[in-house]
Amino acid sequence: MRASRYLIATQKETPADAEIISHQLMLRAGMIRKLAAGLYTWLPMGLRTLRKVERIVREEMDKSGAQEVLMPAVQPAELWEESGRWTQYGGELLRMKDRHGRDFCFGPTHEEVIADLIRNEISSYKELPANFYQVQTKFRDERRPRFGVMRAREFLMKDAYSFHLNAESLNETYELMHRTYCAIFDRFGLDYRAVQADSGAIGGSASHEFHVLASSGEDDIVFSTGSDYAANIEKAEAVAPSGTRPAPAEEMKEVATPDQKTIEAVSQLLGIDATRTVKTLLVKAEADEDGNSGLVALVLRGDHTLNEIKAENLAGVAEPLTMATDEEIEQAVGCKPGSIGPVNLNVPVIVDRSAAHLADFVCGANREGFHLTGVNWERDAALERMEDLRNVVEGDPSPDGKGTLEIRRGIEVGHIFKLGNKYSTAMNATVLDENGKTVIMDMGCYGLGVSRVVAAAIEQNHDENGIIWPDAIAPFQVAIVTLNAHKSPTVAEAGEKLYEQLRQAGYDVLLDDRKERPGVKFADMELIGIPHRFVVSERGLAAGTLEYKGRKDAEKQDVPVAEALPFLV
Ligand code: ATP
Ligand code: MG
Ligand code: MG
Ligand code: MG
Repeated sequence: MRASRYLIATQKETPADAEIISHQLMLRAGMIRKLAAGLYTWLPMGLRTLRKVERIVREEMDKSGAQEVLMPAVQPAELWEESGRWTQYGGELLRMKDRHGRDFCFGPTHEEVIADLIRNEISSYKELPANFYQVQTKFRDERRPRFGVMRAREFLMKDAYSFHLNAESLNETYELMHRTYCAIFDRFGLDYRAVQADSGAIGGSASHEFHVLASSGEDDIVFSTGSDYAANIEKAEAVAPSGTRPAPAEEMKEVATPDQKTIEAVSQLLGIDATRTVKTLLVKAEADEDGNSGLVALVLRGDHTLNEIKAENLAGVAEPLTMATDEEIEQAVGCKPGSIGPVNLNVPVIVDRSAAHLADFVCGANREGFHLTGVNWERDAALERMEDLRNVVEGDPSPDGKGTLEIRRGIEVGHIFKLGNKYSTAMNATVLDENGKTVIMDMGCYGLGVSRVVAAAIEQNHDENGIIWPDAIAPFQVAIVTLNAHKSPTVAEAGEKLYEQLRQAGYDVLLDDRKERPGVKFADMELIGIPHRFVVSERGLAAGTLEYKGRKDAEKQDVPVAEALPFLV
């Protein structure tokens, strides 16, 4: 590509509304532009990297034997009603009507659509196992879209869904996907960890998240210095040896983390998908005057707002909590949003919004033996306490008895899941087995945030001058910067020659033939993060050399013109 004919939309200034480095650099390097909150256009430079990420994902998925499909982004409500998620899925689900008044949504995920497809297409155990994937645009109406494409509303995901006759077969494909994800992230050239994730809310079976390590990550991941143990913090806390936990105080004995059944009941009750997105649910059951136990306090940790909780689902159970203003919440709950309790008895208390942290806190408090009701800390104080109360701390022995625990920040870039028969039961996705008996299929699902990977790679690989791309996903591998080529035919010619030579050898090359000052060109190529750079100048050519600098190198070096290609290889 010739830079003079290419949209090099670099910016000097750091955009004011970009909080994290990858967002700033993606804007400054001219990779993306914002259209509206959580909606981004990929400019040519950004799209090149996105496509390279996609290509690696495709190659490895194909290698694993998965088959590519492409499902519609827009999905009919009927399927979601069948699975129960039309009412359960919270405000992240973008719902819409067509001209005939029929309900649709813009897919945040595709379990329903694939289950519908496969129940029609596959009828015999002989066709199993089968794994289908797509690379496709998802929409999630994130409550707080932020950090550019890192947490966007419209984003690109690779999602795969596998179908099985039995659990053993699901286990095999799950392991295969685990290995495939490792191969993918290895090829990206990123420092990542696969960690056990808490699958409690979705079902008893396994789940792993893949995290790119970066200090700006939104998740805490815990790993052992002495073994392969690695888990996200929720999971690590769930299995922390009881010896490391202070005994609960007397009055907390009735506080229980609910089992799967309770979570499902609560999902039904509140009209949200607690099974899918709520990470921690704390229910305090307390006897009323008649000795019946009931819901007293409920803390959801997830992306739900009070508005999403359907009034009609609460009717007859408790007073609807569909109010939106702080005053109304305070009135109903008995405390300001952003603080906890004392709670109104017999009313489910839904602590929401920025209270994701508070929910964390309450759960910490639970484990540490503090009583939920009657506590009324202000938000900041509560957050401070939360830090003190973290159950898993660095230096703890690990659950498997080997080494000590280290806590790092991670960015969730992939998530694989044994779904079991949750969706296949709801949607009656069955096959005939060897004996001609109808059996419900087991399912696995495997998500990978293609567009988020681009941002995560930058979080992990940058310096004060800009992005430092790993070779495999760089928009261009080599930059050729010609100096004053418009005045020097020798330079122009040597630049063209090198450009052709490297392209023919299979490199993605950007020839910076713009009529800009050398300093501007160097700064742009560094900002964009191209791994290898050759400078073609009159002075160099006179000595028969090009100047080479790797993006990570401190020093430049001269390379004989004829040796440019072997030098790269
Ligand atoms: P998060 O915890 O960050 O909200 P998630 O657990 O809701 O992610 P999954 O349902 O597991 O996401 O989706 C699979 C993958 O899609 C995630 O691992 C992540 O890489 C990517 N992803 C999810 N939400 C977004 C988003 N809003 N913007 C970009 N990528 C996303
Ligand atoms: Mg999410
Ligand atoms: Mg997550
Ligand atoms: Mg996830």
